[in-house]
Amino acid sequence: MADSYNDLSDSQMALLEGQLREQQEGLRAEVQEERAKSDDERDRRSAREVQDRGDEANTDQWREANAAMIDHHVDEISGIQAALSRVQSGTYGLCVDCGEAIGFQRLQAYPSANRCVQCQSKAESA
Ligand SMILES: [Zn+2]
Repeated sequence: MADSYNDLSDSQMALLEGQLREQQEGLRAEVQEERAKSDDERDRRSAREVQDRGDEANTDQWREANAAMIDHHVDEISGIQAALSRVQSGTYGLCVDCGEAIGFQRLQAYPSANRCVQCQSKAESA
């Protein structure tokens, strides 16, 4: 396949796709673990009456942090899923803003990247 629409060779594409799938698996496992911990904590709380207000506040803080982490990971998973669907549609590796190739180096560091460095920094400062 000489067609290099995104400047990536077949082997580079295969490598990045593998990285995406690996990251997705890892994140899914983490989310599951965090959700399980969250359930444990809920069970513990309902099993005993929380008398100490300080303890309750700490637990709420922990739950909030845990929920934020789950949200963050769920976002990452959806970014990876979007990248995998771009692999399927043949637009993977192209900047969604300017359509230029993102480049293998950047993708290797950040396989779910959907913008080139220039557009990403524009998007972040906007
Ligand atoms: Zn761009």
